[in-house]
Amino acid sequence: LQNKYAQELDLPAETMDGKRIHLYLNAGLLSSLASEIANGADGVGLYRTEIPFMLHQRFPSESEQVKVYQQVLEAASDRPVVMRTLDVGGDKPLSYFPINEENPFLGWRGIRLSLDHPELFLVQLRAMIQAGDEKEQLHILLPMVSNLEEIDQAIAYLEQAYNELKNDVNKNIVKPKLGIMLEVPALLYQLAEVARRVDFVSVGSNDLTQYLLAVDRNNPRVSTLYDCYHPGILRALKRARFDCWQYNLPVSVCGELAGEPIGVILLVAMGYDQLSMNQGSLARINYLLRRVSHSDLSELLQMALTLTSGQEVRELVREYFESRE
Ligand code: PEP
Ligand code: MG
Repeated sequence: LQNKYAQELDLPAETMDGKRIHLYLNAGLLSSLASEIANGADGVGLYRTEIPFMLHQRFPSESEQVKVYQQVLEAASDRPVVMRTLDVGGDKPLSYFPINEENPFLGWRGIRLSLDHPELFLVQLRAMIQAGDEKEQLHILLPMVSNLEEIDQAIAYLEQAYNELKNDVNKNIVKPKLGIMLEVPALLYQLAEVARRVDFVSVGSNDLTQYLLAVDRNNPRVSTLYDCYHPGILRALKRARFDCWQYNLPVSVCGELAGEPIGVILLVAMGYDQLSMNQGSLARINYLLRRVSHSDLSELLQMALTLTSGQEVRELVREYFESRE
């Protein structure tokens, strides 16, 4: 079956009625990135820098980081790469930086930690900018943002890092585009203000679901409650897409939902046209998109939005798949 999907990987992901969907990779390890990119991805939609940090015994130095980030950008040839600043805390521990909290998912994680440790944050930003060099390939993404002040502070650090490097190292160096993860629900209601500050957003549906439903994304006891197809989640995603369009803010989705066939159908129907997923989903999603029409999906979404549970939504989309086989 994988073979059947893989045969079409070279063809662009485009619906039967001509809507082009850009498919990107989620990555963290370098080993196979080059071949994964060559295999039909439009770029890297989420590079999780906490993964190389976890492979070290201490915080990697600026030059060590530059090397890793350069390799990522090279592996991507000239395609865009969205590099996320350190997202430790929550479910992502760093052995050499232990954090003990009662509610780690509501605690010190992502951008909160970076802003409390500017010496670490500035090193990471400097390393990214240097790796990006004079090309426009690199985009920087901030995780776990929960208010506008955090964005403003991060922008100030990015400016500082960029100005230092421009003056001391290379005056032609490019300032990367900046985006934030949309994964804390309150920000869904501040997209107008977000759009005035950043160049793009990326919906982290894993954490967004966890926080909208108040269900731990990793706790097996409540795993049946962790439902990305909960009608409330779907409405939030639809509203986010609409607001981003309204405020001219480019938006992608990089949570697991963007690599699941049912999720992709619903997201594309909402108007999302940039999806970032694990390498294992890429061929299948490309294959699927080439066999649906956007107008059919819009009708399906209208129906899905009248349903009352995630279970019903899944059944509806499965029936649609079966009717087409
Ligand atoms: C997300 O939260 O959806 C996401 C992509 O980030 P992570 O899974 O790394 O928390
Ligand atoms: Mg997340």
